[in-house]
Amino acid sequence: MEFNLEILKQSYGVFKVDYRQDQGKRYFVYGYQHDEEEWDFDNGDLLMVLDEKEQINELKRNFTIFYNNEWLCKTCFKHKKVERLKVEKIKHWGWTAWEGLPSNLMKKLQNKILVGIPEFSWKNVKRLDDHNSNCFIDFNICTECMSEDEYDSKFSDIIKQLELWELELATEAILEGNEKVLEGYIAHNIEIVETDMKLIDTQVKVKEGVIDILAEDKNGTTCIIELKVRTNDKNLIWQSAYYQSEIEEDVRVITIAPSYEDVISKALLNVKNIEMKIFNRDDKGLLQIENFEPNQTVKLSDKLRLLANEEKDKAI
Ligand SMILES: [Zn+2]
Repeated sequence: MEFNLEILKQSYGVFKVDYRQDQGKRYFVYGYQHDEEEWDFDNGDLLMVLDEKEQINELKRNFTIFYNNEWLCKTCFKHKKVERLKVEKIKHWGWTAWEGLPSNLMKKLQNKILVGIPEFSWKNVKRLDDHNSNCFIDFNICTECMSEDEYDSKFSDIIKQLELWELELATEAILEGNEKVLEGYIAHNIEIVETDMKLIDTQVKVKEGVIDILAEDKNGTTCIIELKVRTNDKNLIWQSAYYQSEIEEDVRVITIAPSYEDVISKALLNVKNIEMKIFNRDDKGLLQIENFEPNQTVKLSDKLRLLANEEKDKAI
């Protein structure tokens, strides 16, 4: 298809290119007219459909081009502030999802958002699925176009919803036996272990091992938190006894597991400073942590029961 650059230049300021794989891998080119007072990114004039990348390159040499899947501020675009859009480091308002969520759950989060938040499209959430990114959700508005207060008041409900979904999905992963997610969840929400607890650090190296989480309780006492997604991990006993010997001050050792088999809990009771806790899901679908009472029967999720049995088989 031929196009007359001079005529295009007279009428159009910028172009949007929508590459459609599902439409014969062609480039749909939309234009935005100089004399329109405002531009709507989603509604340009469809000017041409091109087959070749080279044709797009030629347009690019003569015009400012945006791609349909580009992250850009719709408000800047609307007000024709094209120069601002070209500034590479322009900051967008957005929400960063938890990087530690496994990729299958990131996809679920993405789907929940697309179905549950009508004003969001694939463009807003595409970085969730991109492992090279920091799992970013974009609101299509930049920090130049919206102040922090406006952002807070406009999006606070959506952000609360995003955080809730994220926690629900993380809880799901934890109940399926993902210890890394358990660590991330507790590190991000340390107060679910105990009110006024503060995180010091995660993955703290000592001479012979790594403490999962180091925290401080409201009295300033150091807490070693050791996590397990199995009910019968014998390492837990050695770790609980040894790690506290590496911390010179007063210390509490808190173990968190789905439950404890008898042989484990009996041995742990002989370790000083020990406090056994269990995790499960509360009626809102979120992780909760409770004190373990020996002899307590705990309903394990099927997946965790499976893990425990596998471990037993190995031991035999
Ligand atoms: Zn903007």
